[in-house]
Amino acid sequence: MRTEPLLLTPGPLTTSLTVKQAMLRDWGSWDSDFNDITAAICEQLLQVAKAQETHVCVPLQGSGTFAVEATFATLLGQDSKTLVLMNGAYGQRAAKILERMGRDTVLLDMGDYLPPEPEEVARILQEDADITHVVLIHCETSSGILNPLEEIAKVVSEADCEFIIDSMSAFGALPIDARNLPFAALVSSANKCFEGVPGFGFAIIRKTLLQQCQGRCVSLSLDLYDQWQYMMKTGQWRFTPPTHVVAAFYQALQEYQQEGGQPARLARYQRNRDRLVAGMRRLGFDTLLKDHWLSPIIITFLSPDDPAFSFTSFYQAMKQRGVLIYPGKLTVVESFRLGCIGQLYDEEIDKVLSAVAESCQALGLSAQSTSSNTQPLTEAI
Ligand SMILES: *Cc1c(COP(=O)(O)O)cnc(C)c1O
Repeated sequence: MRTEPLLLTPGPLTTSLTVKQAMLRDWGSWDSDFNDITAAICEQLLQVAKAQETHVCVPLQGSGTFAVEATFATLLGQDSKTLVLMNGAYGQRAAKILERMGRDTVLLDMGDYLPPEPEEVARILQEDADITHVVLIHCETSSGILNPLEEIAKVVSEADCEFIIDSMSAFGALPIDARNLPFAALVSSANKCFEGVPGFGFAIIRKTLLQQCQGRCVSLSLDLYDQWQYMMKTGQWRFTPPTHVVAAFYQALQEYQQEGGQPARLARYQRNRDRLVAGMRRLGFDTLLKDHWLSPIIITFLSPDDPAFSFTSFYQAMKQRGVLIYPGKLTVVESFRLGCIGQLYDEEIDKVLSAVAESCQALGLSAQSTSSNTQPLTEAI
């Protein structure tokens, strides 16, 4: 039997054995033991965001995108106008959801990897008084860039607009303090920095705002107001919850607290990133972004400019060595991505680096050939 591979992907990711073992029992979805777990999870997530006083946490079945769509559908009225700050695939997805919903949007498209400038956002908000909401992707997982959250939140608040954060791949690792960071909603999911398995997402929504959203959502299953009200009244999810996933998430949260919560998790991911980037650079690979913009979540590496390299063959070579990597998501250059999140420690990172070295050898790549023609890109920001 093969042992399971290391996932160097940003969710689903490598989980602990104990998180997987938490799925080995069945739960009644109406049973008070299960309802207690749901309540404890919501309470702890609010604590991580330091939002117990101001916000509520509403979980929703499905992957993270379902929670993003539900948040938009629940909060945005017919006459809303939303500025979407895009610099990658997840920003584009947010815009696509709003277009489907027929909501008015303004797009600031920074391309594949440039951060939105707070001054420019402020200017757009000043020039268009109809804009009611601003959407930002906290860590844009498609390039790995960590967007300037606090600076953008400030200009959004100064313009009296509501701020919606897709913090899917960052929440739990990057600090969030709702007492100083004004936001209407922050969306994340079970299978990223909290290291649970996939199956539900959640939105942390300002309570006074959600209270005004009854009957607004045109979708029944995505209505977070209804989900919230039903959960408050009964302790239960409205429709069948992913019980095993929820139980695994509860275990993952306990391990999160044992590790030391957000500061400790961030420190481990930063250490993973630094070790990974240093090791990859030694092997001749360049990062897309300069150090300042590298998130401790996922790193984009430029594909070697060598005819011997193809993502597919590199992927297969890595897989044979027990490591699953992630394709790039850039439109202009060939790249691939390595995640820093999940149950990864020094030992696993070193295993990944050995697999990269061996795979390069197996493909007949010369280490020096990897970094040509990449200078203009990394110099760009
Ligand atoms: C993972 C992720 C999502 C959600 O993706 P799903 O495939 O629906 O789970 C949304 N935004 C960002 C930034 C993500 O990293």
